Amino acid sequence: MSTQSLGELFALDSLLDEDEIAIRDTVRRFGAERLRPHIADWFEAGDIPAREIAKELGQLGALGMHLDGYGCPGTSATAYGLACLELEAVDSGIRSLVSVQGSLAMFSIHHWGSEEQKNEWLPRMAAGDAIGCFGLTEPDFGSNPAGMRTNAKRDGDDWILNGTKMWITNGSIADVAVVWAQTDLEDSPRGIRGFVVPTDTPGFSAPKITKKLSLRASVTSELVLEDVRLPASAMLPKAAGLRGPLTSLGEARFGIIFGAIGAARDCLETAVEYAQSREVFDKPLAAYQITQTKIADMALEVGKGHLLAYHLGRLKDSGKIRPEQVSTGKLNNVREAIAIARECRTILGANGITLEYPVIRHANNLESVLTYEGTSEVHQLTIGKALTGSGAFR
Ligand SMILES: Cc1cc2nc3c(=O)[nH]c(=O)nc-3n(C[C@H](O)[C@H](O)[C@H](O)COP(=O)(O)OP(=O)(O)OC[C@H]3O[C@@H](n4cnc5c(N)ncnc54)[C@H](O)[C@@H]3O)c2cc1C
Repeated sequence: MSTQSLGELFALDSLLDEDEIAIRDTVRRFGAERLRPHIADWFEAGDIPAREIAKELGQLGALGMHLDGYGCPGTSATAYGLACLELEAVDSGIRSLVSVQGSLAMFSIHHWGSEEQKNEWLPRMAAGDAIGCFGLTEPDFGSNPAGMRTNAKRDGDDWILNGTKMWITNGSIADVAVVWAQTDLEDSPRGIRGFVVPTDTPGFSAPKITKKLSLRASVTSELVLEDVRLPASAMLPKAAGLRGPLTSLGEARFGIIFGAIGAARDCLETAVEYAQSREVFDKPLAAYQITQTKIADMALEVGKGHLLAYHLGRLKDSGKIRPEQVSTGKLNNVREAIAIARECRTILGANGITLEYPVIRHANNLESVLTYEGTSEVHQLTIGKALTGSGAFR
């Protein structure tokens, strides 16, 4: 009997133009040929050839994809989202590499940086020759970055940075870190400023965080800054206060709206295929009503997640997207993706707990995705504030 794909069920391609479909298919092919054959091994080893992959992603045009100029491809936000979707269908860790490089590190320099900073870093980062990271979170300040203790003090024309950042994607492999710190500048709330820190600056180190059971195919690190001396030109001149890092985070959250639904799609496709071939009580698991109920309900959520992502992509491309709309997409699509990964796991039975199939890997990865770029609770509070007019963060 002929079967339909999820894309056909929702006629998803009818919502995309030819260029977007071509970009999506190119990234999907790269994922299938270059990444999928190795991803389970990288995840198991907790080690990924990130530099090599970054160069290939650069050649593909996936780094800083929706930024203009300075060697960046300048695609639409929707096309960038589709690339995130296809990369996260392979593994959230690969999408994290791309998000942090393009949406956090490169976007911060592109949006808030000086011409000198842009020319120095962006072309190399777009090519994957230089890797970037984004240091906002600290051991004691995650959801509430305003409390950060990392500080930058003036010494003549120079800045001296001290502090510790935690949970920083790409940290140990980065050539450049965008680090957010308290200053005594008084022209902005709390004086938070961003600094472009070459990672070979004396006093900077980035020990890798080990023993992770999620995002194992992604490098996560601590950043330690001990009297890191930087010239005045290292500060991002256009970012003042928390608006700087929060705007950059909005960019990365946008990619996650698409990415998470890619992980969910991969889980669902795996579960459907498994259910068709696995026989229980003398017939295929897929032929039981309970299995079909699960599959149909999950297909609705994966389909709706695509529609929401595409809609938000169009809003972003028209320059009209608002932060609470990004929160809506991130909260919904990650929450649904993790529920789908767990439900698919049940269909695979014991095979669902191994790396022979992608499902438990996606489920574990999505635990991190649920937490970073704003936890579910933070996005609920953002949506709640938009709908009620009352801020409930404190
Ligand atoms: C794999 C990974 C990679 C990451 N990469 C980066 C990176 O590249 N750069 C970076 O800067 N950070 C990164 N992070 C950090 C991430 O952004 C933070 O973990 C996240 O912001 C949450 O902070 P926290 O872990 O300190 O949790 P906390 O802020 O301590 O939150 C703990 C719990 O309290 C809840 N909570 C917090 N505030 C409220 C409130 N007002 N009301 C109700 N509940 C609340 C939270 O939702 C959560 O459930 C990464 C994290 C992970 C896991």
